[in-house]
Parts: sequence; C-alpha cells; structure tokens
Amino acid sequence: MVFIPEIEKQQSEEQNTFQLRKLKEVIAYIKANSAFYAGHLNAFEAQIENIRSLSDLQSLPVTTKEDLQQHNWDFLCIPKKDIREIMSTSGTLGSPVFIALSSNDLERLAYNEMLSFHCMEVDENDVFQLMLTLDRQFMAGIAYYSGLSEIGAAVIRSGPGLPALQWETMKALDVTGLVAVPSFITKMLDFAEEQHIPFRDFKAKKILAIGESLRDDNLEPNALAQRIKSKWNIELYSTYASTEMQTAFTECNAGKGGHHHPELIIVEILDENGNQVQKGEAGEITITTLGVEAMPLLRYRTGDIAKAYYEPCSCGRNTMRLGPVLGRKQQMIKFKGTTIYPPQLFDVLNNLEAIKDYAVTLSADETGQDKLILYVYTEMQDSDCNQLIKPVFQHKWRVVPHIIYCSAAEIQALHFADNSRKPQRFRDLRN
Ligand SMILES: [Zn+2]
Repeated sequence: MVFIPEIEKQQSEEQNTFQLRKLKEVIAYIKANSAFYAGHLNAFEAQIENIRSLSDLQSLPVTTKEDLQQHNWDFLCIPKKDIREIMSTSGTLGSPVFIALSSNDLERLAYNEMLSFHCMEVDENDVFQLMLTLDRQFMAGIAYYSGLSEIGAAVIRSGPGLPALQWETMKALDVTGLVAVPSFITKMLDFAEEQHIPFRDFKAKKILAIGESLRDDNLEPNALAQRIKSKWNIELYSTYASTEMQTAFTECNAGKGGHHHPELIIVEILDENGNQVQKGEAGEITITTLGVEAMPLLRYRTGDIAKAYYEPCSCGRNTMRLGPVLGRKQQMIKFKGTTIYPPQLFDVLNNLEAIKDYAVTLSADETGQDKLILYVYTEMQDSDCNQLIKPVFQHKWRVVPHIIYCSAAEIQALHFADNSRKPQRFRDLRN
C-alpha cells in the first residue's frame, strides 16, 4: 500500500499554515539551544515577532555553508551525550561539515526516505540492492537502508563498483529494485553486453537514481536517462538530497520533479540578491529543516540551482516538486558571456555513445579565462573522437575544449581524485 501523509494531500494554504506554525517552533528552539543561532538571530527580535506568513522568512538572515564550516559545533542544540551518530558532508566544495543526529533525527531520516520509496511504490515484497557507500560517515547509505527497513523491504548492501558481482547478486537473489548512481548503471550495461549477461530477464523493475540528474530543464529524460532506457526497460526515479538538509526529494511515477514533504522541510528558491524568485524561475534552493533536533538549519543556502513546480501531480500528492539541479552556484562556468553549469556539459557527453567515460576539469588560463579540459575514454581513434566532440561544443557554446584521451582506469582515478565517496565527474581547479 502506498502511504501518503494527510498533509501532502491537503491544499497548499493548509500546508503553508502548518509550516508557519512549525517555523515558529523551530525559530524559538534554535534561539534557545544553538549558540550559533542565538547570536545570528540576536538583532532580529522584531522581525521574528512580525512573521505572519512563510514569505516573511525573507526578513531573517540566511545560513551559509561557510557558517556551518566555521561554527560547526555551535549549531548543536542537544547535549553531546544525546548524539547517536555523526555523519559528514563529502567536502567536494571546501572542508567537510559534521552533522550530528539524535535518535529522533535518525527516525526522521528513516521516515523521510520511507516516503521516497513510497513515491516509487516500493513495498515489503521488494528486494533492494544498495550499490553505494554505506560507511565513511555517508548519510545517504544509512538513509536508504533505514527507509527500506521501515517499509519492510529486504535490503542487500552490495556497495559501489564491481559490475560482475552486482549482476550476479541481482540474479541470485531476485532483486527487484536498485539504488545506484546512473552513470554506474551505464557501465554495468556495457559490461553486461560484453559478457552476454541476460539482464533483461532479471526481476529488477526500478532504480532510485542518486547523485546525477535524469531530467532536462523541461523534466524530459536527459541523455543519461535515455542511454539507460534504450538498453533496459526499467523505471528510473530521480532523487535530490543533501547531508545538511537530512531530507530527500524523490520523484513519483509521474516523473515531474522530486516531491517536497512539507512536514519535513521549508523550501525557498532565491535569486542572486537573496530574494524569493517568481514562481517557475530557477534559483538557489534554500531550506529550513522541520523536526530536526540536533542540528536544525534556518534558511540554509544549499548552493544548488533548480526550479520548483507547483501544478497538481497525478499521484495524489499535492506538494511542490523540485526539478533537476541545473548546477551548483559555485561551479558556474562563463564562456564568452554564456553561463553554463557542469550538468549541461555532462548531458552533451552522455549523448555521444562513443564516449565510454569522461571527467571534466575547469581551470583558469593565463588571461583569467575559464579553461575547460575534457578527459575522455573511448574505443574510437582520437582524431575521429575529436571530430565528434569539438563541433558539438563549438555549436552549443562557441568554445573548443582541450581533450585528453585516457584509459578507463585513469578516468576512474580522476573520479575519485579527492578520495571522495561518490564519483566526481567535475573538478573546479580555478581557486
Ligand atoms: Zn507525484
């Protein structure tokens, strides 16, 4: 049975009223319990008194990633003895941040991810294979694990990598669903085709696709999603989450963006000047956590740029959805006046079947201009591959990238260059 909380079926006005009440509780709580927010909100008594609607949030200061980095433990609202687990962000941009969770926070995390799997219509008959890191202070792994346990599905912790073993496990244990990085799925499919593994006869029907977008700006399947779907008739569900917000936005069968769960988080979309954008415009996802006990966040700027969608969804949830992350604010690339984000580059490269794997770095040249280097693994001749890539970049962005051809292993090494828990296709070396 698919579970939809009552609040998610209500009208948006009722959801807003609910969130406003919760917001006031959060503000009172963090002022009283967090050393950081006690100081941060000190001069805002009048504004706090005057909050009458969610848009009044704009009168309060934002919280930045730097705040969290510099004052990490001042965010803690509970006695240290009540901490049950300490997780950390991946630190792909700057130094990692520690996020402490109480036992209620761990339950909230499980509830949140249970809602994600309900969006995917997962039930207790499902057998899920988790192809991701489950240790190294990584929140996502434990979140999926506990969400599936909450539903009563069986879980297999196969971890990342090793295509041969992943396929063997899927076959041996009649796996019905996967949690995986989509570009890893494309590698698994290449491997299966080479080895003549009859994967289309296996029982897997759905994938929770983490870490990479599967949709373009119009919510249509992007090149990565098409590359998977062209080989394998499997349902793909996108999800967006981060350690700091301890909350995920996961697509339902309609595939129209990741559903917001209003009982868990308040979302604002802000423009460059910190104002809430007009409905339908892209901006920075800015969140206020609800129900978080150890390290709640008020107006935390995630750095991720996306659009929100408000039309009713066919699944019966009456909640806002977040579209794909168009890019990270800090990773914006400027070429001759055009602004692009790494996911747009990935989409072009994923579209080229001959490119088996790739990594991208961005550095500054002698004149301070952004310089793009593509590291490409292909079975084609280098000169033929140049002919394939360069015109596409020239046509789309009027830029000719520098291309370096590498082995599969060299690309893999680049993906994990920072000893990261997740593959990083893009590295920004400008600073
Ligand atoms: Zn829906």
